[in-house]
Amino acid sequence: MPGGVIVGAQWGDEGKGKITDLLAERAEVIVRFQGGNNAGHTIVREGKEFKFHLIPSGILHAEKTCVIGNGVVLDPAVLLGEIDGLKRRGVDVGNLRISANAHLIMPYHVLLDTAGETKLGKLSIGTTRRGIGPCYADKALRLGVRVQDLLDPKILRTKIRAALEPKQQALRELSVQRRKLRKEAGEAAEPTTEVAADEVPDPRLDLHTMTEEHVNFGHRLEPHIADTARLCWEALDAGRTVIFEGAQATLLDLDHGTYPFVTSSNPIAGAACVGAGVGPTDIDEVWGVAKAYATRVGAGPFPTELEDEIGKRMGERGREFGTTTGRPRRCGWMDLVALRYAVRLNRMDTLAITKLDVLSGIGPLRVAVRYRSREGAVLDSFPYHQSILHSATPEYEELPGFDEEIGDCRAAADLPVGARDYLGFISEFVGVPVRLVGVGPDREQAIWIDS
Ligand code: GDP
Repeated sequence: MPGGVIVGAQWGDEGKGKITDLLAERAEVIVRFQGGNNAGHTIVREGKEFKFHLIPSGILHAEKTCVIGNGVVLDPAVLLGEIDGLKRRGVDVGNLRISANAHLIMPYHVLLDTAGETKLGKLSIGTTRRGIGPCYADKALRLGVRVQDLLDPKILRTKIRAALEPKQQALRELSVQRRKLRKEAGEAAEPTTEVAADEVPDPRLDLHTMTEEHVNFGHRLEPHIADTARLCWEALDAGRTVIFEGAQATLLDLDHGTYPFVTSSNPIAGAACVGAGVGPTDIDEVWGVAKAYATRVGAGPFPTELEDEIGKRMGERGREFGTTTGRPRRCGWMDLVALRYAVRLNRMDTLAITKLDVLSGIGPLRVAVRYRSREGAVLDSFPYHQSILHSATPEYEELPGFDEEIGDCRAAADLPVGARDYLGFISEFVGVPVRLVGVGPDREQAIWIDS
């Protein structure tokens, strides 16, 4: 596959990091095409755990080029922290390339994200508060600061100033509203430190300091800044494999996910073209990564959610806590209605099913094969109307499951019949072959299935 996309097929955290790491062996270039440091990939190599928020998972392969594409929004301080952390652990980051067109998450984006979520209260989306949404908003408003601006202090200052002004006003308004709300809630007698802090100009928003700091970031990032679209073309034109790695997942897609409980970019396969700068015909293969069950972080509809002992057990066995936030993930049965939607939306060729080991000993396994609306209508496909999805109840097929621990299985034939049947059912239902199966966190704990 000269051009292959890896995309999350559910609500994220499917274990894309490990699958990318495995597929990266065949690739020369690995590109991240969207999202920011709200993604968290965990890769376990020989017992050592590596967590990435921004840098593509392929970085562990020293001879490969890792690209942060133009579709990514990046916080330079976080990126430099990640680079330093990898260097400390002896990982060579010389082959990291950053698109000059990628947008920068600035301190005011982080402040706005937090203030915005606080204001929404119960209606909050559950963002990671890392400034990603406000950064994409500025990109669309053409008020964004790009990586290339770090290399020109004069332009950098001008752009920061233009972007900063409306933010200062918005933040002031948000803080006035916050104070009003606190007052209404009878919290006026609270210690005044926070109120006072609202009135003092935030040192993080000082134009001069911010510009200086970012010029320094530019000096440090300069060796990595490149024309990354061209780099992809050159590799593809020479017949070398390029992997486009998505963060988050299909059902969190800004356009096709469960809006507004979604991420602020497009994680679906089609977005790889925009976020990396290649054409649709450069993509030869689309891999979807799905967990053997379902999880979701934060708010939003999740039809197969289990709020019982089984859900708790999945969470514990699967260590379902966010890499970036540490938040416990909601757990539930595999939702094949949603998966089939993801398969079509991304035009997936192949599925990787991760974390099958987590289901051992759970008992009979259920998979949702259709929903029923509140009015009793049968819904075979993922409803486009959010209100229907919110109130839909899943109908399940029950499969026997398996009790054996499968962490040591390395071939499909080693798996218990119940596990094989489970995979077979999924594959048949969604019409895509399962070619890779995860049976534990370590990269060795994977089964390749020849089709
Ligand atoms: P990503 O964002 O899609 O890469 O997912 P995360 O890295 O946030 O979450 C995946 C978690 O599952 C990580 O802790 C992985 O080490 C772990 N993991 C990946 N594949 C498997 C698997 O097959 N079995 C088990 N038990 N854990 C896995």
